[in-house]
Amino acid sequence: MTHVTLPQLGTFQVAESVTDVRLFVASAKRHGLSVAFVPTMGALHAGHVSLIERAQSECGCVIVSIFVNPQQFGPNEDFSRYPRPRELDIEICRRAGAQLVFYPAVETMYPAGFQTFVEVAGISDILEGRTRPGHFRGVATIVTKLLLTVQAERAYFGQKDYQQQTLIRIMARELGFPTEIITCETMRDSDGLAMSSRNAYLNPTERKAGLCLFQALRIAKQRVLQREQSIGEIRTAMRQYVEATPGAELDYAVIVNPNTLVELIHVEPQMVALIAARFGSTRLIDNIVLETPGSWSWNENKHLSVSLRSWSAG
Ligand code: AMP
Repeated sequence: MTHVTLPQLGTFQVAESVTDVRLFVASAKRHGLSVAFVPTMGALHAGHVSLIERAQSECGCVIVSIFVNPQQFGPNEDFSRYPRPRELDIEICRRAGAQLVFYPAVETMYPAGFQTFVEVAGISDILEGRTRPGHFRGVATIVTKLLLTVQAERAYFGQKDYQQQTLIRIMARELGFPTEIITCETMRDSDGLAMSSRNAYLNPTERKAGLCLFQALRIAKQRVLQREQSIGEIRTAMRQYVEATPGAELDYAVIVNPNTLVELIHVEPQMVALIAARFGSTRLIDNIVLETPGSWSWNENKHLSVSLRSWSAG
């Protein structure tokens, strides 16, 4: 693709170079369209589609990136086996309402000799960062490069990766990105398992065991609604549930401040429970917002908070 125009909406394109994305965005902006951006690693599922559809409903033009970012995988992680169903993913983006898919090669994002990295100190080293050293440096670096490439009005991320969206919000604020960061609710299978590209690795026994994450989170939610006053009790209930599940190897189950992810000592009106465990060779994460009864004040992201309430009611 050498030259991009944006004639009518509905014209769908795939770009592999930064230049082509910039031309497309410039054209969209000339046509007065607001640009939305949804970064992904592909192997798309209904969770990704929900982000694209929300972006589509709020902006005039949606760009999705598909890039399995080597910098966010550890040496013993699943970079090489991560699924890359290129044509299917592109078709899913088209059907979900994207106008452009940015599908760069690794050398496009990291040319030989690449030596510039973005690091959000502190939050990168806890929870996921503790188990996956260097992961968030890779995330912060690629998201920065992608946000600078697309220069969208809004970028959409999933609550599913709670620590990631927190880190991106911090980074966008502190570096002054012109893009608004939007967090979208977690899409789940009908039994509650949070959708994830990595669920494809699970055998039937592991998948069944994987349900314990959401069940443990619901236990935490229940305890808070029952006005349990001890964070320690709630945390222990979550941990015991996962530890009692055959095939589950708990990494962490914590209750944190929703904005800083600092572990809480006392029950507060707004909290988030974060959980991670290994099932065979697959590591899964999940989370849930916890609000004490009568607490309706947390609306930094109203959409997210309201939708979780309706989930827990169901
Ligand atoms: P990934 O391809 O795993 O890097 O995810 C791309 C984006 O989709 C990230 O912002 C994720 O948080 C989001 N995402 C992943 N799984 C889900 C889900 N089950 N529901 C909603 N968003 C999700």
